[in-house]
Amino acid sequence: MTQVETGPSNFIRNIIDNDLQTGKHQTIQTRFPPEPNGYLHIGHAKSICLNFGIAEDYPNALCNLRFDDTNPVKEDANYVAAIEADVRWLGFQWAGDIHYSSDYFEQLYAYAIELIEQDKAYVCELNAEQTREYRGTLTSPGKDSPFRNRPIQESLDLFTRMRAGEFAEGSMMLRAKIDMASANMKMRDPVIYRIRFAHHHQTGDKWCIYPMYDFTHCISDALEGITHSLCTLEFEDHRPLYDWVLANISVACKPRQIEFSRLNLQYTLTSKRKLNALVNDNLVSGWNDPRMPTISGMRRRGYPAAAIREFCKRIGVTKQENTVELASLEACVRENLESNAPRAMAVIDPVKVIITNYENAKTEQLIAPAHPKDESMGTRSVPFSAELFIDRADFREEANKKYKRLVLGKEVRLRNAYVIKAETVIKDEAGTITEIHCSYDPETLGKNPSDGRKVKGVIHWVDAKTNKPAEFRIYERLFLVENPAAVENIHEVLNSDSLIVKQGVVEISLADNQVEKAYQFEREGYFCADSKDSTAQHLVFNRTVALRDSWGE
Ligand code: ATP
Ligand code: MG
Repeated sequence: MTQVETGPSNFIRNIIDNDLQTGKHQTIQTRFPPEPNGYLHIGHAKSICLNFGIAEDYPNALCNLRFDDTNPVKEDANYVAAIEADVRWLGFQWAGDIHYSSDYFEQLYAYAIELIEQDKAYVCELNAEQTREYRGTLTSPGKDSPFRNRPIQESLDLFTRMRAGEFAEGSMMLRAKIDMASANMKMRDPVIYRIRFAHHHQTGDKWCIYPMYDFTHCISDALEGITHSLCTLEFEDHRPLYDWVLANISVACKPRQIEFSRLNLQYTLTSKRKLNALVNDNLVSGWNDPRMPTISGMRRRGYPAAAIREFCKRIGVTKQENTVELASLEACVRENLESNAPRAMAVIDPVKVIITNYENAKTEQLIAPAHPKDESMGTRSVPFSAELFIDRADFREEANKKYKRLVLGKEVRLRNAYVIKAETVIKDEAGTITEIHCSYDPETLGKNPSDGRKVKGVIHWVDAKTNKPAEFRIYERLFLVENPAAVENIHEVLNSDSLIVKQGVVEISLADNQVEKAYQFEREGYFCADSKDSTAQHLVFNRTVALRDSWGE
């Protein structure tokens, strides 16, 4: 008896456990079947983790990657490459070669012929409008097409000539002969082939007839030996058709389709079509804009793959429709980075501090831990000199006791360094502070300085003589409303502050950091260098997530 050892339990895994126990299957085969008409998003991550997760956890189980490429008009080879990269980055590897539904066009055609020969499919010449009219409605049955009972030989001849390119687009189609009175509209003689004189990214100009999704998907599953074909709930009423096709052709394998609820996430669009519109309308910089809920956008923003996998584990797999809080995705990111991101210091809105009693020509190399709780991450060297930067928000000329930062005439501790005291400020003509002159106490250095001082505030800083200038991109959610999918004009609910750019400095140890590597900039948040725009000459850091959830404060 095979029982899964690891991984989350859910109703699909229960079905699989049962199928293994009863001997219905010896091994399990799943597939992830994206249509290459856009980039993968967080919703797809749920499906990827489910399908590939099953393959990882069950003995000898496999998961295929199959491009569901039956619509040559909307699809593109660039999307194919991006999807492969995203699945790999998420940490999964498909079994064997990549599959394409278009690999099966010849077999699909042969199965269509089988259906015609059994009088279970016919060539129909109703136009689009007539077809709609004949289909009926949810409350009234449809009418039989006048072509429904044409002789088998005639349909065979016409279908062959459809393939040969003899007929115009829209003039003919192949339909399954099922039941025009079925309560399930999908069973009212669904179209299974249509004419399209379109170039296909895999098959070129070889075909001018293309099979429809419902005919293609079940047969592709069967040809690949898929045991459990997992899809989202909107396919529930396609299932009778899925089963009908497989029951009426000579394929041996009969996969089982099981539906689960799709991931909906607050403040987030999870539809490739709508995400594509954001890109086309230039509302974001591209599919991998760090504000996009695409896998490539989240990656560029600094979300670790493991955090996305953890999120998918926590939300679970059920048949209940619900919307997940964005905060729970961010919490997974934060938890992961809290343990894994080394610490560093960056000043996002710098103002100069001059240490008046520190020797001007001197630079000291102070030692700071890379992580306060994880000594294995080692230490880094942080230069300290008579000129520093601190954040403008960390200084006030006057403040009450609640303000635990630097105040004129008072002391504050510099992170990993000394206690300083603000003595005077220099302002420009407009009254803006340009320099804060401070004194420092050389006795106050060390991890737990026994200087006996009651200095509550600790602020971060960057040495002004050795730093690297850096651009910081601070992201907030893209939409102001929880359910942007329900909004007709998306422009009206865009958050105009979803990207704020600031120019500041980072400590010199970050001069040759790797892109996409996460850091915690102390007191500021988690950041990583931008994979597209950051260069050695011009460092650009994306804020991955703030240190805590402060939305709405
Ligand atoms: P979109 O509406 O974004 O185009 P789709 O369902 O058409 O999504 P496909 O490329 O056909 O996209 O999806 C591949 C797989 O990912 C399918 O099995 C689909 O059910 C699943 N999937 C897509 N979106 C979600 C989601 N939000 N939650 C869970 N699974 C999803
Ligand atoms: Mg789709």
